[in-house]
Amino acid sequence: MTGSVRPLVAGNWKMNGLAAQLAEAQAVRDALGESSVAAEVMICPPATLLAQTAWAVKGSSILLGGQDCHTEAAGAYTGDVSAEMLADAGARAVIVGHSERRAVHGELDRQVRAKAEAAHRAGLTAIVCVGETAGERSAGLTEDVVRRQLAGSLPDAAMAANTVVAYEPVWAIGTGLTPTAADVARVHAAIRQALIARFAGEGAGMRILYGGSVKPTNARELLAIENVNGALVGGASLKASDFLGIVAAYGN
Ligand code: PEP
Repeated sequence: MTGSVRPLVAGNWKMNGLAAQLAEAQAVRDALGESSVAAEVMICPPATLLAQTAWAVKGSSILLGGQDCHTEAAGAYTGDVSAEMLADAGARAVIVGHSERRAVHGELDRQVRAKAEAAHRAGLTAIVCVGETAGERSAGLTEDVVRRQLAGSLPDAAMAANTVVAYEPVWAIGTGLTPTAADVARVHAAIRQALIARFAGEGAGMRILYGGSVKPTNARELLAIENVNGALVGGASLKASDFLGIVAAYGN
């Protein structure tokens, strides 16, 4: 599978970045303009910077994504942003169900699924995050948790063209820790199996990203693993040189 779908490297800036951060997006744009990369490259800035980032990377192949969306298209939801608004500002995708949303905002699988459906309604790709906590891992529940999250968070109508799964072990996010290559291979294989069982050919074609402390130093090893079709990158996406060092794992 790894060889048959175009990989995706997506940077999640989280709640980081004022206007000065646009220089990093421009540096990524400039560098990609001169290189040939086999992967799609995406930046997910905070909603406040989305439209400006769209201007900053205009004319390049860089895709933009949001970090979360409301389930409704519009309405009396103070402080929220809809999938339609993200699309209008230049996004082609949106991350839903990130573990920080699940943990800090108490988002449940059914809400994540409704957000993924909202993304599809707006014409966006939903990047649906799943992953176990340290406690679940040490209890041997990793695959059970991931399968349950997938079952609850993915819409029935999900397709390869509009849905990406990101496996992000919670304990690996922002910690510098990563699972072993064998662990990543095992969980990604379980995810692929679950996707094929539910979505048949569409599930075979869905990209499965790995996320959690991906750095230029470990990207090559992680991204070469079977059924790893790219990366969701947090901290290392904030600096163009680090992000490009990860993207370079797919360079020619
Ligand atoms: C993330 O939060 O999606 C993530 C992968 O973060 P980091 O790369 O910093 O671990």
